[in-house]
Amino acid sequence: MKSSRQLIIAIDGPAGSGKSTVGKLLAQQLNYLYVDTGAMYRAAAWKALQLGVALDDGPALTRLAQRMQLQLKCDPRNFQIAVDGTDVTSAIRSAEVSDASSKVSVVADLRKELVAQQQRLGKGGGVVMEGRDIGTVVFPDADIKIFLDASPEARGARRHEQDAEGSGNPQETIQAVRHRDSRDASRRASPMVAAADAVHLDTTHLTVDEVVQRILELVKQKLADPKGVASTR
Ligand code: C5P
Repeated sequence: MKSSRQLIIAIDGPAGSGKSTVGKLLAQQLNYLYVDTGAMYRAAAWKALQLGVALDDGPALTRLAQRMQLQLKCDPRNFQIAVDGTDVTSAIRSAEVSDASSKVSVVADLRKELVAQQQRLGKGGGVVMEGRDIGTVVFPDADIKIFLDASPEARGARRHEQDAEGSGNPQETIQAVRHRDSRDASRRASPMVAAADAVHLDTTHLTVDEVVQRILELVKQKLADPKGVASTR
């Protein structure tokens, strides 16, 4: 799809809802940048674990986030992230970092720092950005907002295949994902919540291609009628 208008597409939703897979394919089709904001919280958590910073020490975590240098390669075919010169693209996918990332992400001032970086990355448009608060906090005026969801079992199974978040046992993975989601949804600073104007897509019984096609339809509608209200019907 070719267009001179460069949209901001926000995709939010819980772990395992398909955000990354869908976001990357969508960005490839549109020739857009792809920004995985979860990777930024994971990188902060990785750094905290490396330095032995307590995961409940808000001020220390905020200082860490302000000082660390994040480098992102926002290529949807090969997304990479480095912290202070160390490539952590794979290291941040461990079960330990997954759990730590949702602990550090409750710190409001740490979030402020990462949100400012995300806004800089996306401000020119032509971007698919995924996370938990993109449509509500990072880009409340995003051109398209999607909230992806799926049953806990489907999400746990997907995470089990991708990340081994639950150390090899599918039931443990489902538990770990549920635990992380309830922490993400109940925190005070920018809880995971769908924006009022987000289009909800339940991906439990949809293929990745079906989800991507539905969002591409919304993109088409938006490009044809920038003021129109998004609808998948
Ligand atoms: O998306 P992913 O599962 O990799 O995110 C890891 C963690 O980072 C989430 O569990 C959540 O706590 C945090 N996160 C966040 N806000 C975002 C993206 C991720 O709080 N925009």
